[in-house]
Formats: sequence, structure tokens, C-alpha cells
Amino acid sequence: MFEGRRLLIATKHQKESVIAPIMQRELGVDCFVCPEFDSDLLGTFTGEMERTDDALTTVKNKCLQAMALAKCDLAIASEGSFGPHPIIFFANADQEILIFIDQKNGLEITVSELSLSTNFNGANVNSENELQAFAADAGFSLHGLILRKQKGDLAFMVKGITDWETLLSSYHKVKLDNGSAYVETDMRAMFNPTRMKVIETVTKKLADKIKSLCPSCQMAGFGVVEAEQGLPCELCGLPTRSTLAHVYRCAHCHFSLERQYPHGKEKEDPMYCDLCNP
Ligand SMILES: [Zn+2]
Ligand SMILES: [Zn+2]
Repeated sequence: MFEGRRLLIATKHQKESVIAPIMQRELGVDCFVCPEFDSDLLGTFTGEMERTDDALTTVKNKCLQAMALAKCDLAIASEGSFGPHPIIFFANADQEILIFIDQKNGLEITVSELSLSTNFNGANVNSENELQAFAADAGFSLHGLILRKQKGDLAFMVKGITDWETLLSSYHKVKLDNGSAYVETDMRAMFNPTRMKVIETVTKKLADKIKSLCPSCQMAGFGVVEAEQGLPCELCGLPTRSTLAHVYRCAHCHFSLERQYPHGKEKEDPMYCDLCNP
């Protein structure tokens, strides 16, 4: 279905470095990027251009715009969102969404991953020592940093800093004007190897999903669309909030099936039972 076709990777942040090798190997496609495509017009992490839609809408628009520009019918786009983890307190998370659109076959396949593996952070700093402590924690200089006057300020901003000299000189410039400075992690993929690694993991997940065929119509992209709660507690036998089954559905013919115990266990530890461990 894909062998020998050209696959556009809609990015200007070098995500092709992890996406292309996997897709080339798994689908036999020929990957390329479109240098004229500017994904920043759909929103940046640093606020010059606010992202107005949710991540899924944004990633789809990004993919379709790039396809129109490059005049091709097969493409991948990705979108990251960063912030506090929805369940784990005091931890930041990276949510990555990947979309694969095949206009020739009417296919649209998405995967997402919520990862705790991120250096996403930002802080006011008042001394070189504070700046250095932040930088060390963020994995500088392998990971890029951004300096500005204060959080969200767009008037003065240095992005993609990857050397101490620029970091220190930018810091002193801002501090002289302002009394303090705001430092934050640069989340653009080419400045953030931790994020690049997460994108690589999600790409593998996407390749697996694309290669999974519907048992009824043989169309690609047969994957999990829902997780059903209710794995019974080992002690009291009542349903817990843990996953009992995964529901698979074909986007093409709507055939669906349920696979129980997707994580290989049939009972849940009473530790996760609301009744036994309230
Ligand atoms: Zn089907
Ligand atoms: Zn229980």
C-alpha cells in the first residue's frame, strides 16, 4: 500500500532525523521534507504565535497544509504539548501526537504518548549560580535554553542557546535592563534530544499501528480506540479503574473487536482498588 511512495514529513525542526529512518524501514516509503513549510505559523512554544486549536486539530492542519504545499498525498506531522502531568503531582509531562494521512487511500491514523521523560521547565534567576543550577538540571548544553526578561515576555528573547558564552552574555544583558531574568527550556525538537527520543518512540508506535491490518477489510491502521476500565480487584473482586479491555476499531469499515487483559494480568493489585485501599 505504501511501498515506493513519497512520504512528506511536515517539520522544520529536524524531526525527520528520527521519523524518516523508521518509516523508510517499516513501510518502504521514500521520506522528504518541504523546506518552504513553516509549522510555526500554526503556533510556537514561545508565544510569538499562539496555538489557537487543540493539539489534534493543529497536527491535522499542519499535515494538510504541508501536503498542499508540497503537492503530495502521503504525510506525517507531529505536535507536542508540555505541562503538569494530569495525574502525577509535581511532575511535568510531554504529550506527543503523531498523525499519518494517506489521501490516496482515505486513511488518517493518529497515535499519542504521554511521557514523563521531559526537561520542560522555566524559572526566574537572580544570579549566575542560579542560572548554572537551572542549566545543569535541564541538560544544557546538549539541550537548548531560552532567555527572556520575564515569563511570557516577547520583547527580548534569545532562543536556541547551546553554549555558555551566549547564555551568560544574554543573562547579563537582560539582568542589567531588568534586575532579573527568566530562563526556560527550548522545547523545539532539534534543541531537545529528550523530546526527540519521545518522538522516536511515538513514531515506532505509529508504524506498528499503520502496519496493523483490519481483520475484516485488510485496511491499514487497525488500532486501539478506547480502553475499558474494570479490571477486578484480586482481594474483593469488584471492578477497579484499571484497564480491563482494549477496543479496536477499523476507521474504514467500522469493524470492531475487544481484547481483554491487554497488560497480561487478569486481576488488579488491591493497592489500586478504591474499596480496599481508599
Ligand atoms: Zn476494516
Ligand atoms: Zn478490592
